[in-house]
Amino acid sequence: MATRSEIAVAIDGPMGSGKSTVAREVARRLGFRYVDTGAMYRAVAVAALRRGVAVDDPDALAAVARALRLELTFGANGATRVAVDGEDVTGELRTVSVNRVVGKVAGAPGVRAVLGGIQRDLGTTGGVVMEGRDIGSVILPRAQVKVFLTASPEARARRRQAELAAAGEQVSLHDVRRIEDEDDRAAMTRHVGPLRIAPDAEVIDSTDLTVDEVVDRILGSVARARGL
Ligand code: C5P
Repeated sequence: MATRSEIAVAIDGPMGSGKSTVAREVARRLGFRYVDTGAMYRAVAVAALRRGVAVDDPDALAAVARALRLELTFGANGATRVAVDGEDVTGELRTVSVNRVVGKVAGAPGVRAVLGGIQRDLGTTGGVVMEGRDIGSVILPRAQVKVFLTASPEARARRRQAELAAAGEQVSLHDVRRIEDEDDRAAMTRHVGPLRIAPDAEVIDSTDLTVDEVVDRILGSVARARGL
């Protein structure tokens, strides 16, 4: 039976499904480490932009991922701070320029190979809540708890719009829907790391649920996985 320290929780879902908020809270409640894998792809995007690497060149992007020193610090409040080559770039991860190129970065097979290796290492010890697109299906297929979060396109667009507004970007709902569609399509057609629902994942539609309700359901699954 899995012991407390062995439990890994994989939370996947599309943009705007609410998975970051939920994953952070689940990690906080369990005292687990929270790993935001999207932030890792964003960090590689920051490094590529700084080095002037062509984002249409997957091999060049892979070389950036291989060369950079990525340090993740997991704060007590659940926040992940990301440093690239010794410099904290957390504040740059969600800028417009990064949003524009991160899909290409995440689509480069070599980048996925490098970051996937780091993510697997972070998952092996358990005591982790890892959030992304392909965690339950590809990265941690043996995670004891796997959740795939969905929400209606309208709910997703509204959440994403609020997130962007919080980061100082005013984007119309129409444009948010367009960005969302592009990201979903890219994630579903990527030959590595697609947005695939693991067969043993619990699918939770968060459209009409509060954050607490989603968190409670996941904590219930964790308790069952621990055999409590
Ligand atoms: O979740 P977030 O918006 O931070 O993800 C940034 C980008 O990285 C998105 O384009 C997303 O599709 C991609 N991604 C991915 N695999 C993951 C996490 C994020 O391809 N495990």
